[in-house]
Amino acid sequence: EKQVYLFEEGNASMVKLLGGKGGNLAEMTALGLPIPPGFTITTDACKSYYKQGGRLTAELQSEIKGAIVALEKVKDCRFGDANQPLLVSVRSGSVTSMPGMMDTILNLGLNDETVAGLARQTASESFAYDCYCRLIAMYGQIVLGIPGFLFSRQLENLKLHSGRESDGEVSAGEWKQLTGAYKLLVKEHSGIDFPQDVDQQLNMAVKAVFRSWNNARAKVYRKLYSIPHDQGTAVNVQAMVFGNRGEDSGTGVLFTRNPSTGAKELYGEYLIHAQGEDVVAGIRTPRRLTELRENMPEVYDHLAALANGLEAHYRDMQDIEFTIENRTLYLLQTRSGKRTAQAAVKIAVDLYEDGMILKEEAVSRIDAGHLDQLLHRSISPLEELKPLAAGLPASPGGASGMIALDAETAEAWKRKGNQVMLVSTETSPEDIHGILAAEGVLTARGGMTSHAAVVARGMGKPCVCGCEELTIDADQRIIYLGENILKEGDILSIDGTSGRVYAGNVPLSDPEMTPELLKLLSLADEIRELKIYANADTPQDARISRELGAEGIGLCRTEHMFFSAARLPAVQSMILAESREERLSLLERILPMQQSDFEDMFMEMDGLPMTIRLLDPPLHEFLPNLEQLGEQLRRLQLAGGDSEEQKRLKRMIARIRSMQEKNPMLGLRGCRLGIQFPEIYDMQIEAVFRAAKLAVQRGIEVRPEIMIPLVGDPGELKELRMLVDKVASEVLGEAFKSITYGVGTMIEVPRAAVLAGRIAEHADFFSFGTNDLTQMTFGYSRDDAEGKFLNSYLDKNILSGNPFQILDQEGVGKLMEWAVARGREKKPFLQTGLCGEHGGDQSSIFFCQQTGLDYVSCSPYRVPYARVAAAQAVI
Ligand code: ADP
Ligand code: MG
Ligand code: MG
Repeated sequence: EKQVYLFEEGNASMVKLLGGKGGNLAEMTALGLPIPPGFTITTDACKSYYKQGGRLTAELQSEIKGAIVALEKVKDCRFGDANQPLLVSVRSGSVTSMPGMMDTILNLGLNDETVAGLARQTASESFAYDCYCRLIAMYGQIVLGIPGFLFSRQLENLKLHSGRESDGEVSAGEWKQLTGAYKLLVKEHSGIDFPQDVDQQLNMAVKAVFRSWNNARAKVYRKLYSIPHDQGTAVNVQAMVFGNRGEDSGTGVLFTRNPSTGAKELYGEYLIHAQGEDVVAGIRTPRRLTELRENMPEVYDHLAALANGLEAHYRDMQDIEFTIENRTLYLLQTRSGKRTAQAAVKIAVDLYEDGMILKEEAVSRIDAGHLDQLLHRSISPLEELKPLAAGLPASPGGASGMIALDAETAEAWKRKGNQVMLVSTETSPEDIHGILAAEGVLTARGGMTSHAAVVARGMGKPCVCGCEELTIDADQRIIYLGENILKEGDILSIDGTSGRVYAGNVPLSDPEMTPELLKLLSLADEIRELKIYANADTPQDARISRELGAEGIGLCRTEHMFFSAARLPAVQSMILAESREERLSLLERILPMQQSDFEDMFMEMDGLPMTIRLLDPPLHEFLPNLEQLGEQLRRLQLAGGDSEEQKRLKRMIARIRSMQEKNPMLGLRGCRLGIQFPEIYDMQIEAVFRAAKLAVQRGIEVRPEIMIPLVGDPGELKELRMLVDKVASEVLGEAFKSITYGVGTMIEVPRAAVLAGRIAEHADFFSFGTNDLTQMTFGYSRDDAEGKFLNSYLDKNILSGNPFQILDQEGVGKLMEWAVARGREKKPFLQTGLCGEHGGDQSSIFFCQQTGLDYVSCSPYRVPYARVAAAQAVI
């Protein structure tokens, strides 16, 4: 089986075999673009390398050899030849892009002889030996595992001693001297000499790239983005072009649109007299592409034309690597560019409006998770705050946290529950776990395309890069921001939208809906079939829900209306009432409060359905804490205080004790409460219909849906439905005919799902309360599971995900499917929906679509996300 493909033998559809980089290099070669020639070793070869226990088979070695010969022909030079040496790069390239996570070696094919040949050929000794130094350092690092800073430190020292400010000023003699020093370093640290045999260099490099698939940072990245561990990487071997040949050469990265805002403009950075890695590693802060337009206009125009062509070809924003060698332009990579959520939305909508993609494609390109980022809070530009410093706005949004100077500290503090800000000189891909732990990232060096920026944008974390006023004293654990000194652990805020850095916590402002986002959401609305409702308990929540596009309220938890400080005393006395009469008179005091809440909510919803769940939690949740009451009583007794008050306290304590339950979650709550104390539900229903009647008199349409919680038996619903109908007809009187209302139940006790057919006889709708349904189906109490045993279940792979976040389709989902089917058999027009926290989770929404539910209901800020996810579920 063929394991090596020349670039001209492949294309972009072969990404699985050739990796993303290889597939696109082949595609670009076919398009006739200026791509240095080369070949790709397949991902299958990588898999077989691992199967062989880390060996390159003889067949593979000879295929590689053959491809090198083909390359020599095209380039008219020879690998290892002393006069006309062929130099290549050996580049990793996985199927799913993992920027900077794996390794690449440049300038391979140089040794003591060929370096002299290269110097003669290019008439530049300093250039040739610069390349050689780079090779030895990269080879030492990647193949032999020698820490990179040992090499760079030598270069820095040399420059310091000889007063050179940039690499370009280093003389040929100095590069030669450094070559010797680097070789010594290799020998000292690995016990072997830097190999002079170029075939050996190549074999070792290919193996090292295969191995880099399993380096620590690549594994973290794969876990983070759920990339399969057995995919393997391809290896690309490509003839070198040189951006480090002098002032007419350089290397850079270019996005065809602004990856931060999505604006349609070429957006890039480059370095003169530099080789590939220099830009992406963020070692020097690069120049803006606009300078290239001034300095080398013809190169800029060529680049712009190629960039636009590539975007049109791939119909998506591209992230392009280029190198200029003596004013000749080469492309070295293209891929669809990572972008912020804001940019993703703008680009998708712009491409749709330009007719480049269909609406389905525009919607499916949005990572629903990224929408969260869009609804992120940010530092308001209007705030009158004085920044300490400013850098490049590399990933938008505002963030605050304790300064942590390395990834390990960031992780440790995060684990303790702190918010941290990762602050470092430059961020290498090895710091990915620190970025993950941090609220935001601030670096002193590196540009917008540095790995730190790319990774932060992908994760939706605010990032400011290249903040030149920042210096870090890692020994003292302090940082300098201009004049200011801060300690590790101090709070720092960054604004990744403007690039500004502030001391302390900074107030964050709410997000706004951009025209592009509104457009995208309206496209999603055209596609989706599920209705999106919100869980809203207050008029404010109802308003926000509507603004964010909710088509109704799927869950209004009436108990939340009881918790306010003004109402709690009345609610508590009602619960503690010792007789029905006492309770009734207290309920009468609560009724108008509850009614006014509903009046306001009906106003906000203005004709949209509003699902009102009657009181659900166990009553003890409203009562004061026993220990505190006991303490209060003891103090009074000691002081010999008011005996009446003592009596009252004692009675209260006794009453609370008598109400205590062994297992409140499974105790007197939900409809059981309504059956035990019908007067409580009676009051709530009365409040709903009085409010409804008033609203109708004011000309507002209403659609109340009364939801009975925790039903496990048809009899419970039958009983309470009668109560609703009775109270409704009493309260509404004449208006009864003009108001349509529904009565339904939450399906959250497994038995209700099993008996769904019979329950449907009394229900107009089912709403799956998947929080409780999950608790009771698993028999886990959520509060006890999440902090405690659930993590070890996940670590041991007993569960594949947290069922409270991602709906358990196998178990809980089966109950839902069954209940929907049985319910609809009885009542074809039964409305079905989901109102647990799962309503805001993508895979759960997909499941709801598949199961044929009518709606999902989620928290108000999750509504835009749910609209998009519901559309994606259809596509
Ligand atoms: P990564 O996946 O980390 O970006 P790459 O394989 O793309 O690694 O290479 C790293 C850098 O080296 C890039 O800037 C790339 O453009 C540059 N590079 C790779 N191959 C060559 C080559 N043949 N000639 C010149 N530069 C190259
Ligand atoms: Mg690259
Ligand atoms: Mg419940």
